[in-house]
Amino acid sequence: MSLLPTQPDSSGAFGDFGGRYVPETIIAALDQLEQEWNASRSDDQFQLELAALLKDYVGRSTPITFCPNLTSDIGGAAIWLKREDLAHTGAHKINNTIAQALLAIRMGKKRIIAETGAGQHGVATATACARFGLECEVYMGAEDVRRQALNVFRMKLMGAKVHVVEDGSRTLKDATNAAMRDWMGSVEHTHYIIGSVVGPHPFPAMVRDFQSVIGRETISQSLETIGKLPDCVVACVGGGSNAAGIFHPFLEHPEVELIGIEAGGRGEGEGDHAATMSHGAPGVLHGSRSYVLQDSDGQTSTVHSCSAGLDYPGVGPEHAAWHVSGQVTYRSVTDEAALKAFCQLSEREGIMPALETSHALAAAVELAAGRSSDEVLMVNLSGRGDKDVTEAQRLLEDHDMLPGS
Ligand SMILES: *Cc1c(COP(=O)(O)O)cnc(C)c1O
Repeated sequence: MSLLPTQPDSSGAFGDFGGRYVPETIIAALDQLEQEWNASRSDDQFQLELAALLKDYVGRSTPITFCPNLTSDIGGAAIWLKREDLAHTGAHKINNTIAQALLAIRMGKKRIIAETGAGQHGVATATACARFGLECEVYMGAEDVRRQALNVFRMKLMGAKVHVVEDGSRTLKDATNAAMRDWMGSVEHTHYIIGSVVGPHPFPAMVRDFQSVIGRETISQSLETIGKLPDCVVACVGGGSNAAGIFHPFLEHPEVELIGIEAGGRGEGEGDHAATMSHGAPGVLHGSRSYVLQDSDGQTSTVHSCSAGLDYPGVGPEHAAWHVSGQVTYRSVTDEAALKAFCQLSEREGIMPALETSHALAAAVELAAGRSSDEVLMVNLSGRGDKDVTEAQRLLEDHDMLPGS
């Protein structure tokens, strides 16, 4: 097992992955962002300001919570949750948007654009912009606008303009293309807040840094509350930011098993899932080289998942490197198994997870069953399920799985 560097090399590469596959027009903006981010890392004032916002505005640290009922139902490893659902706006996305908004202000950029899938990144971006008085425009696929109507209203309520993208499959990939196009023409005065560990360097490393607060807290809270590190950490992987955030600080502890869970959708056929590591191949998407789901002509595949936040044909380049090095194992979980876990955690623990997160929970329940009761499984509960209840009710009806009936 080769240990990878914790920062990409000067070309922005994690081994064979990462880099900058972008038009000339945005290179200068990426250089400026990289400089500003590097400077901010050793700037005490920036770090104090960010820490104060994470504490008093986002509500960190988020707790870790034991699941007594789920654990006794299963009779295997103890299941614990890292509660990013309790962060302001209900998911981990805010950790990144607050930090990038601060960088935008340092760069003198007053207009912010973002792409969003589930709408959580759009909401988290609109939130940061409202807090700092920045202009905010969010690109969102028409299909996701339908699935996540509540989040569209939230963004508008906080003063953001939402552009409905009707191109392609009308989901996250198309919204990202539209945001990139906007940035090509507006880069002088606009910062593009990318919502995951994807895109051209420095975004993958920078977003992972801003999300690593999740893993750092999990390590100290586990030592304090459980008396040891978890044996295994499980997180869902869309672009990969909540997973990278919890995994990265654990790379220093190679005895801890790290498992990333992708969307297995409704089957293994092309277009039926979003399991990039299991079914993809190296390629370039949205400005960096990573694993990409492609058809036999090398065109980016259409994807499917019941959760809008995992419905993406790419994955962060650092995950691709971790996959190749074996530092993280990747698996997938189907829509149906995720829906079952969504109901199970709600009913047994009174915690409604996001549909994205439900994929990680389904995997954790299965893993826990095969392990001894001394073992601890930590699931990154990346977000709360309130945004998903309407869609979940429709899906549960379709699957004949409606609770209480
Ligand atoms: C956006 C989102 C995800 C997927 O994005 P990552 O970058 O892979 O973390 C997962 N869970 C929730 C709750 C989300 O909002």
